[in-house]
Amino acid sequence: MHRDIKENVLLSQYTTFGIGGEAEFFAVAENEEDLVWLAGHALERGLPVSILGGGSNLLVGDRGVTGLVIKNEIKGISHEVQDENVLVTAGAGEEWDSFVLHTVKAGWWGLENLSAIPGTVGATPIQNVGAYGVEVGGLIKEVKVYSLREQKFLVMTQAECCFGYRDSIFKSELGRDLVVVSVTYALRVTPNPQIHYKDLAEYFSSRVGLPSQEEIRNAVIEIRSKKFPDWKQLGTAGSFFKNPIISTEHFNKLSELYAGLPGYLTTDGMMKVSLGWILDKVCDLRGVREGNVGTYEKQSLVLVNYGGATEVEVSNFAETIKDAVSEKTKIEIEMEPQRW
Ligand SMILES: Cc1cc2nc3c(=O)[nH]c(=O)nc-3n(C[C@H](O)[C@H](O)[C@H](O)COP(=O)(O)OP(=O)(O)OC[C@H]3O[C@@H](n4cnc5c(N)ncnc54)[C@H](O)[C@@H]3O)c2cc1C
Repeated sequence: MHRDIKENVLLSQYTTFGIGGEAEFFAVAENEEDLVWLAGHALERGLPVSILGGGSNLLVGDRGVTGLVIKNEIKGISHEVQDENVLVTAGAGEEWDSFVLHTVKAGWWGLENLSAIPGTVGATPIQNVGAYGVEVGGLIKEVKVYSLREQKFLVMTQAECCFGYRDSIFKSELGRDLVVVSVTYALRVTPNPQIHYKDLAEYFSSRVGLPSQEEIRNAVIEIRSKKFPDWKQLGTAGSFFKNPIISTEHFNKLSELYAGLPGYLTTDGMMKVSLGWILDKVCDLRGVREGNVGTYEKQSLVLVNYGGATEVEVSNFAETIKDAVSEKTKIEIEMEPQRW
């Protein structure tokens, strides 16, 4: 049992950005019983509840968070083989990349392209974590949640999670009171390499035969290390903006202005545009710094905290980027991390 509720806990120590004021109350849930107890305690006292994983997709305000922050540390991994599939269930508090490594070592295909992403298992359905041509939503069979409103556990199917690009029901009004307790992924026991994504295709272009799961994981780790800083050295929440999705008409107009603009047709006939390219080639914002905040020198989508940055500084810097993109392209870009 871990029901020690602390007061005035500085959240910057729990975010990869290294930014954020104090949580009014703070506690750790190590199992489902802890979670139910803490949620009940918050309800009785009328305290809003916020769920914290690894803090790698958060921009926390300098004035902190009112109510109770519950750090989800519910652990445990189990699996069940069903013919060519293996259903692997992991506790929300498992560290994501250690879990990915576990699946790769076991020879369960599916998550290797999502290697080296910080954070926890429980946060992966929230924004439908994706990288290198794979989104977690496509591999999720079901998500076990605890409803803070209804005070009961529910199991949600993949369809009920309404996964979209960096989106799911958990980010909507309907899903905001749902705490992810565990996630079940449907992986494969037979090889299923996904190397169509540009960077991976290039990496393996001279390879004869298909790469192993381990080779794909290592390739992803190597490619990522050239694009993202080590957040333990340089605070960051990864890509700060989503790649925008615009109409083909808008895309064609922009392509006439900015030759070479990369765009990918989505399944619903829209164009997903590379914001990194726009920030680099159209707005000239790579490696730009203002005070303690800047765009990362190797990937301008990534904002970094050079030390001592505040949320206000990051927000102001992000606004100048938004304005620059809007002025040059008429695209209104959206922030990717969640705001607290
Ligand atoms: C260097 C770097 C690289 C990154 N690369 C990628 C990438 O390639 N692709 C990608 O998609 N993301 C990427 N991210 C973003 C981030 O790592 C992921 O979104 C990750 O899943 C967040 O996990 P977390 O546990 O840290 O969530 P947190 O930051 O703790 O929380 C994020 C949000 O999810 C909610 N949440 C967390 N856990 C739960 C739960 N159990 N139940 C309900 N709600 C919960 C929180 O309340 C919050 O709103 C990157 C971040 C960094 C710093």
